Amino acid sequence: MNVTRELFDEVMVPNYNPAAMIPVRGLGSRVWDQNDNEYVDFAGGIAVNVLGHCHPNLVNALKEQGDKLWHLSNVFTNEPALRLAKKLVDATFAEQVYFANSGGEANEAALKLARRWALEHHGEQKNQIIAFKQGFHGRTFFTVTVGGQPAYSDGFGPKPGAIDHAVYNDLDSLKALISDNTCAVMMEPLQGEGGIISPTAEFVKGVRELCDQHNALLIFDEVQSGVGRTGDLYAYMGLDVVPDILTTAKALGGGFPIGAMLTTKAIAASLKVGTHGSTYGGNPLACAVAEAAFDTVNTPEVLEGVARKEQLFRQGLDAINQKYNVFSEVRGKGLLLGGVLTEKYQGRSRDFLVAATKQKLMCLVAGANVVRFAPSLVVPDEDIQEGLARFEQAVASVVNAE
Ligand SMILES: *Cc1c(COP(=O)(O)O)cnc(C)c1O
Repeated sequence: MNVTRELFDEVMVPNYNPAAMIPVRGLGSRVWDQNDNEYVDFAGGIAVNVLGHCHPNLVNALKEQGDKLWHLSNVFTNEPALRLAKKLVDATFAEQVYFANSGGEANEAALKLARRWALEHHGEQKNQIIAFKQGFHGRTFFTVTVGGQPAYSDGFGPKPGAIDHAVYNDLDSLKALISDNTCAVMMEPLQGEGGIISPTAEFVKGVRELCDQHNALLIFDEVQSGVGRTGDLYAYMGLDVVPDILTTAKALGGGFPIGAMLTTKAIAASLKVGTHGSTYGGNPLACAVAEAAFDTVNTPEVLEGVARKEQLFRQGLDAINQKYNVFSEVRGKGLLLGGVLTEKYQGRSRDFLVAATKQKLMCLVAGANVVRFAPSLVVPDEDIQEGLARFEQAVASVVNAE
């Protein structure tokens, strides 16, 4: 069969618009397309491939588990799920874990748990969920409505109710909405899709205090910021604030689909037998790969390497910017960085991404004004240099096309 990009338009639902080239294999931070062109990967499958492509630890775990047991459903438990849950619990504030298959599903579980917990402990009037503008929490109808971009939830009929949005990094806007009827506040401890926006320390502390005052659960969506991305195992660890519920996905499986919701025993108790579930959630294959990813990431070498590699990126991007003056700032933390376009290039982040692909560099955007980088946490220094050299060519081509 002749597999081409044209075939996509013919047989695939048109909700995506993928690049013209079709990747066929990857190794570390390099990817090859059908014509054997080699790309440097600074996109990491949208902050997923935390150990690059085909990391031997993950390939071994996949092959080993693949020969043993793939799927049972939750009528049975399994060893990889229990081992992974124990490791997540030991490494975080959490005491219990619910496994899902994606970030959106982990968030769906978190929101349903918050509503059920509030109903059980405080009554049905306590059902308000507050999230933040520009926030992103997934594409299920509940999570996309909690997300802070109405354009993503409009046009699908009546939305789930009792959901309000405050302004990120603006405590007064949260104060104006929160009350004893609030059951949960959901936030990303570093907004990803919304433009790589870090919270201020005072803001996060203030959110925690307001939740405590009103008996509302604080849910941290660490789907993008978690599993070493910021240099801490989870971003909350670098913020000095502990949530009540944490969701994690993307990097958790290193490229294999898995998500998880972490919480305390007291809160988890509200998800009694039969209240929620998933056919595949916590399947042995996903959990075996995630366990290997977790073991590999949760080491001083990898986590400390993130801060060092962040400096390489920042230095390289600053040098490019001194020549071409396209960014007003480079923001973010660890290996989740965003170059914010200057006034002159507003709305054109996609042009930079397309130019980068032409230079055989994969990167990302975060909205129309931010070029985003989310490479593997173990991206070799030579690949960082090579990727940045290609990015400089891409920037030059956009600037010179004026
Ligand atoms: C990607 C993302 C999600 C959605 O995860 P899926 O696996 O696509 O469902 C949710 N929250 C945040 C912060 C994300 O970055």
